[in-house]
Amino acid sequence: MAPATERRRAAPAPPPPPADPIRIMEALRRRVYLVSTLLGVAVLLILGGLEMFKAAPTPALLAVYAGLLLMCGWALVWLLRGGSVQWGERVVIACNVVVVLTQFVLGARESGPAQLLLTASNFGFLLTVSMLGYLALPLRAAAALSFGTTALGLVLTVALGGLARGGLDLLRVHLSALPLLLLLYALAWYRERFTQEYTRRLLLETQAHTDPLTGLPNRRALYGRIEAALATAEPCSVVLLDIDHFKRVNDRYGHQTGDDVLVWVARRLRGGLRGGDVLGRWGGEEFLLLLPGTGPEDAWAVAERLRAELHATPHPEAGEVTVSLGVAGAQPGDNLARLTVRADTALYQAKHQGRNRAVLLALARPDEGGATLPG
Ligand code: GH3
Ligand code: MG
Ligand code: MG
Repeated sequence: MAPATERRRAAPAPPPPPADPIRIMEALRRRVYLVSTLLGVAVLLILGGLEMFKAAPTPALLAVYAGLLLMCGWALVWLLRGGSVQWGERVVIACNVVVVLTQFVLGARESGPAQLLLTASNFGFLLTVSMLGYLALPLRAAAALSFGTTALGLVLTVALGGLARGGLDLLRVHLSALPLLLLLYALAWYRERFTQEYTRRLLLETQAHTDPLTGLPNRRALYGRIEAALATAEPCSVVLLDIDHFKRVNDRYGHQTGDDVLVWVARRLRGGLRGGDVLGRWGGEEFLLLLPGTGPEDAWAVAERLRAELHATPHPEAGEVTVSLGVAGAQPGDNLARLTVRADTALYQAKHQGRNRAVLLALARPDEGGATLPG
């Protein structure tokens, strides 16, 4: 059972789970698609209405608009009911490809203004297919979809004699789509490069703040976390933990086992902490524990519990592992250097008093004001 002092520790809300970039992007896409589908419905209703009130409406165009309205309706229900964004994208892309190819065929069979109207209307659908492709698919697949659909449409137009019927005008309308498709490709290429670079930098940033052996925050990362905790009005404490006689482990069982003991200790410590507590590797066989929202006495109780737990559980190979811990609570006007030097002083006392113990440094000595960072 936890000591009474530790039970008094205020229990802050658990930290939010780490943001998953893929889920964030998916939620964003769902919202963008919902808005654009609603806009699409409005545009289709206007276009359909204008076509219906013409003296001679084109039945093929009306059929296309009706089909697209159905598709938009399906997409809205799908997205609102939480259906997979990826599948929604695929279905809408497939429908648009069918519409594009249908319009190419219809355009090739018509002549005069009706032909140009169909071809120009196809423009928007080609761009929609391409944009959705670049959003939903890998760059190469999306480029193949965009240029492949256009090329197939042109082949259909030529095969069905559309160019012979429409001549230069038709060719001009078709060709004017190309620069826009190329521009879309360039933007998608740039986005992919940017994302790669951003991911690479994120990875470097993470590596610069992570200890490669234990996977814990390293000293550099701990500096930032301690300073952030000191900047709040909340009480906070730090615990410096040093494995006792660790050199003997290395000497007796080898460096590899020494490494294993470090990882093992890190895992056991992490398992015994609350979500908001920060555990990092201070260096060598020393760990630092930052306990936000925790006063010195309660921090000592945590340190003592961790010590007892480690003492009670032998390492599978190296056997008994004990640790000494120095505890210091933040005081008004404290800074990173003063606080950690006090914890270090407490740790020194714990070692001096015989190891395998937790010591709380009761008061700061006035001469510690100008302390510099240890190590
Ligand atoms: P004390 O109880 O006084 O702390 O004794 P100690 O033997 O733990 O302390 P000392 O400072 O004499 O030795 C620390 C040892 O920790 C020496 C160093 O080789 C070892 N060490 C530091 N970092 C690592 C590491 O990453 N892996 C391994 N295997 N050993 C390490
Ligand atoms: Mg040490
Ligand atoms: Mg040691």
